[in-house]
Amino acid sequence: MAAVFTICAALLCVVSAGPVLLPDQYARGVDWLVRYGYLPSPESLGRLQTKESIEESVRKMQRFAGIEETGKLDHPTLELMAKPRCSLPDFISSKNLYKGKTRDRGNLGRYTLTGLSWDKTDITWSMHNFPSPSISPNLKPGLVRLIMTYALKVWSDVTPLRFQRINPSSYGPSPQIDINITFASGYHEDGYAFDGKGGTLAHAFFPGKEDIAGDAHFDDGESWTYGDWSSNSDLFTVAVHEFGHALGLLHSSSKDSIMKPYYYGPVGDMHSYKLSPDDIMGIQTLYGKREDFNPFPSVPAHTTTNLPHFPTSLLPHPTHPQASADRCQGGFDAIANIRQEVFFFRGPHFWRVLHSGSLMSMTPALIHNFWIGLPPEIDRVDAVYERRDGYIVFFSGNQYWVFKNTVCLPGYPRPLAEWGLHTSLGEVPERVDAVFVWPHNGKTYLFSGGEYWRFDETGKERKLEDGYPKLTSVWGIPSHPDDIIGFLDGETYFFKGTNYWTLKRGALDQESASPKSIAADWMKCDILISPHTPEMPK
Ligand code: ZN
Ligand code: CA
Ligand code: ZN
Repeated sequence: MAAVFTICAALLCVVSAGPVLLPDQYARGVDWLVRYGYLPSPESLGRLQTKESIEESVRKMQRFAGIEETGKLDHPTLELMAKPRCSLPDFISSKNLYKGKTRDRGNLGRYTLTGLSWDKTDITWSMHNFPSPSISPNLKPGLVRLIMTYALKVWSDVTPLRFQRINPSSYGPSPQIDINITFASGYHEDGYAFDGKGGTLAHAFFPGKEDIAGDAHFDDGESWTYGDWSSNSDLFTVAVHEFGHALGLLHSSSKDSIMKPYYYGPVGDMHSYKLSPDDIMGIQTLYGKREDFNPFPSVPAHTTTNLPHFPTSLLPHPTHPQASADRCQGGFDAIANIRQEVFFFRGPHFWRVLHSGSLMSMTPALIHNFWIGLPPEIDRVDAVYERRDGYIVFFSGNQYWVFKNTVCLPGYPRPLAEWGLHTSLGEVPERVDAVFVWPHNGKTYLFSGGEYWRFDETGKERKLEDGYPKLTSVWGIPSHPDDIIGFLDGETYFFKGTNYWTLKRGALDQESASPKSIAADWMKCDILISPHTPEMPK
């Protein structure tokens, strides 16, 4: 008798307690539960939902989200239902997997598998289009590509998967490409319409043989951002989640999982983001663990580890005389393009700029706090470059160091003399001005005292090529550059003092003749003396 009484009391509560629900609100709640797989659709049932089944589905939704299981559309539940989220349901019956060739579904951790996975490890991807600049003005195509690269890398870091970007065809998403990435609005021919700002953010299709398998769609009605903590749609966060689907994962109820269906805000820096154990377990169930790889002699850039990003606030306050280091002054000792970021070194400090041109922090970091293993007496560097195999080489005076990520390899420094440089006067240079890899031919160029040498570093051994040194003047740029960087897209940047020069696609062109301002274009300084419009590398 007591039990019956309790049940009655509970049912009464549904009706009488909690927020007063408008009928419309209630209907929308039920719609939501159907849409995300908690309730069968009324059509499929051939009758209306019962109060009991609705209450049960609300509990299921609350359990999955980790909030109190009241069975009521109470405030926390409605709040959750209003949250931006992924369009894919949280529960999918295998018959609903499109043309589902499903294998057994597992639910061993909290992660859920679709039962579908790619039967290969080399996966291709392509950007079909980019966010509308009018709605997402801060996300330039270069940055979007970088975000997608990192969001895929998160998954390949823990599996044998390898992702290769293919240039898109002009005809639209290509069936030959596994993961086509599209920004779309409203109805876009796949039955999952987008709804403008808020609501659904994105969705992706599970692995398979169909053209649409693996494709990821992002709502172009969202103002996508990166690195903005107040943002309601951080592209990196959402992309990591969607690529989880594109690889065969369903939503997870684990609190730390990126596969949670709701958007809880940005996960942070794409360079240092790591998957939760739940996500790692899920993806490794599908593809296995990543085998140890030998980083020597040559590792494609996508398999190298990213450099961590230190929030500047965590760094000790610089006490060096150059504490007031001003990024707008120019005169950098060394500039290097490392893992698609540009590092500007001056004295004991460095600044980081994303490939897209966004400055990662206005205040400098200390070289010694980040690059571990340089002797403390080294208070400046002459040149830095990322070698073809992903190792990073530092020069200071007549010595050089090789770093694996941010840690110096044992056995360094070694003498610069090892590089076998002899000037045209037969002297051995005491230091270098600039070193970079020219993307045009993959060779390493080393500049010192108005002359330069070319090295082939494609083999195990570094080879000095015949016919060098040559005069720097053939490049048509200042003869003693501070440093030089080459970008994958073929452009090369020469830096000297407060200026830089651009060489496009390996050719000396008119543009190389006119210097531009480092402060304005790279350091985001509001300078009035810059007459030209900033043009950032793409
Ligand atoms: Zn999702
Ligand atoms: Ca939306
Ligand atoms: Zn779609």
